[in-house]
Parts: sequence; C-alpha cells; structure tokens
Amino acid sequence: MTKLYDMHMHTRFSGDSEADPYEMIAAAKSKKLSGLIFTDHMDLDYWVEPHLFDLDLETYLPTLSAIASECSDDSFHIGVGMELGLQEHLVSKHQELLSNYDFDFIIGSIHQVNKQDPYYDSFYDKRDAAGAFREYLEATYDNLNAFHDIDTLGHLDYIVRYAKRFFGEDTALLSSDFPELLEAIYRFLIAHDISLEVNTGAYRCGLTEPNPSIELLQFYYDCGGRAITIGADAHKPEHVGLAFEQLPELLRSVGFTTYRHYLGRTPSELPL
Ligand SMILES: [Zn+2]
Ligand SMILES: [Zn+2]
Repeated sequence: MTKLYDMHMHTRFSGDSEADPYEMIAAAKSKKLSGLIFTDHMDLDYWVEPHLFDLDLETYLPTLSAIASECSDDSFHIGVGMELGLQEHLVSKHQELLSNYDFDFIIGSIHQVNKQDPYYDSFYDKRDAAGAFREYLEATYDNLNAFHDIDTLGHLDYIVRYAKRFFGEDTALLSSDFPELLEAIYRFLIAHDISLEVNTGAYRCGLTEPNPSIELLQFYYDCGGRAITIGADAHKPEHVGLAFEQLPELLRSVGFTTYRHYLGRTPSELPL
C-alpha cells in the first residue's frame, strides 16, 4: 500500500481554524496515513482583516513540536511546517523568519493579489474571469521571483474555486489560456527544485479535481515537472486526508511515480 502523508493542514493556531492538533493526528491515524505535517497560516499584512493570520511562532513551534514528539512513532511521523502567504513587500520579513526558526516544510501560497483576496466576491467586481486568473498567475510568478525559499507552491489555481461562485460553474483555468505564464511558473519551480502542491481541499467545496487541476498537472509534467507534494488543506479533523484514496491512481495517470515528503526542509521521494 502506498504510504501517504498529509502535508497541508491547519489547527487552532490558524486564524480560520479551531482544530485541536490531537484530533487532526487521530483523524490521520484513523485514515491509515503514514504521517502528517502541520502547516498553519502565516499571512502577514492580511489586508482584509489585519493580523488574522499572524502566526505566533514562539508558541506555535514549541507547542506543536512537543505534540509531534509525543505522538510520532515508527509507523506515524509528524512534522511541523507553515503555510506562508507570499507578498513581494514581505520578502525581507520572510527571510528573517526562516533564518530564525526551524521548520520541516514550507508551503508558499498566494492568498492575496495586489492586496485583495480572491476568496472574496469583491475581488471580481472589476475583473472578468480571464483577467482575474491572469492577475493571479502574474502575482504567483512575481512572488516566486522575489522570494523562493519555499519547499512547495501551494494550491496553484485555487482561485478557480471562488471564481466559479462568481462567474458560474463552467469557469475554468486551462493551460491553453495562459501557456507562457504557466510554463514560466513551472520552469521556475523546476529550476529551483521547488515542488508543486497537489491540494485536495477543493473536494470539500464540491469540486471533483485537486488544485491544480489534472489538466494543469499534466502540463507541469509535460514541462518536465516531477516534484509534487500532497495535502488536503484540512481546517477540521474530518477533512484530513480527504480524497487521498483516489490520489495515487490519479497522479499515476498523469505520469508521476513518486511524491515528496519533507523533513527539516529536506525532501525524500516516496513511491505513489
Ligand atoms: Zn492556502
Ligand atoms: Zn492551507
């Protein structure tokens, strides 16, 4: 059986979760996962609600590291990481954070585009779908260029989840719509040995594909991308390892034969 680690989840240390870390661990164990990595939000300068996603590392790291040691054993490993919300003006703050604290794994995510969060309908007031996607992808590329001390790029194309709400169910972000931009992002990741995250959080929003979509994952593979990480982006115990039972087959159908697990920010390849 494929050993699967859920490497993207939130606890009460995130501004949008009340989950008890012990319950997240219990959920992962009950789903027969091989381990997990906690990745609570650190989104400095979250413009919509200031400080909602500031992560208190002085409490977070010792608390979760202690729980990780207590609950890890030979058959289940727990890591402590962080989901870092990238914005270009935060580069020096992020560099400082990562040089002062130790993590197992860093997800770099774009939650804000030009100081607005595509999660909110107001983001789409002055943008059509194509314009919103282009701006999102451009922000992704610009942020990567400015700062790339991350292990994986989080949920590329998750903006589609929210754009659908505004522009309709058929709304899609296809590689053929933005081939140059996507290829530039993918080539940047490959050149810097950064993984691309496959995030199954979309399944809890009723979608039937991960982020990025299978089509975008195929384009990554065709560009030469092989490094992927997996995570369900759970904010509640019931979503830990969501849709993981279908993930290995889905990823193998694209061509991937391995995924990456990180420990002390060092990757190892695991068979799918
Ligand atoms: Zn995120
Ligand atoms: Zn997340």
